[in-house]
Amino acid sequence: MRYAALTEKGKVRPNNEDACYADGRVFIVADGMGGHRGGETASSLAVQVFLEKERELGNLPPVERIRRAMKAANRAVWRKGGEEPALQGMGTTFTVLLLEGHGYIGHVGDSRAYLFRDGNLQRMTEDHSLVEEMVREGRLDPAMAREHPQRNVILRALGVSREVEVDAVSFTPFQGDRVLLCSDGLTGALEDREIRDFLEVERDTERCCRMLVGEAERRGGEDNITVVLVDIQTGGRIGEGKGRGGRTGLKGLFRFRRPGGRRKENGW
Ligand code: CA
Repeated sequence: MRYAALTEKGKVRPNNEDACYADGRVFIVADGMGGHRGGETASSLAVQVFLEKERELGNLPPVERIRRAMKAANRAVWRKGGEEPALQGMGTTFTVLLLEGHGYIGHVGDSRAYLFRDGNLQRMTEDHSLVEEMVREGRLDPAMAREHPQRNVILRALGVSREVEVDAVSFTPFQGDRVLLCSDGLTGALEDREIRDFLEVERDTERCCRMLVGEAERRGGEDNITVVLVDIQTGGRIGEGKGRGGRTGLKGLFRFRRPGGRRKENGW
């Protein structure tokens, strides 16, 4: 397996409120919200608490572990938001992939997980956003969703209330599969078919991440952009592969946001 992760603040926002993590078994994208320092605190705290809890629950089945660890992260962000007035109302999206023989995905919010297989790009998560709900109900044309004034309204996120409902799916990874986790800074700028084309053409894991982020920036980079790309290859047990950088961070453009990093201020 090969994997790479890249997060950039884009061209407009002063700060990066996205967080990501990748260690060869656990892969996460979180997109924080909340004024001032709320967004970054929410996304980094959620990642940190998830990782701690997930390890602690090591004997439970993966989906159960994901649900419980995400609920623990939800509670931690919610509690901290209630304690500090400056952090009130903060929250974060959270999309996690666990590779343990099979693939397991946990998800809340409008970040996404995609599976690229045999030239096809399949979305494995549903956006918990107002526009996607309107599209599902037939009240909004999908083509209009991208430009809709309320496209940033999230219906479900970690940290905004005491309890949260977590979506979970599992799948069987095959040789040659590519799994992409990303924040809406990518999907707001590129259509699914365009993301598919990049995944089809650029087979190098790191270069592909850089190209996706670079293209979103070239189109305005109005939001923070985060991508985590995992290439499934045989030759080792899935979930034990080598990536670039791991928790110690990657050189140059590729870097992981460490949980509990600096606090920054911004909106979504
Ligand atoms: Ca965002």
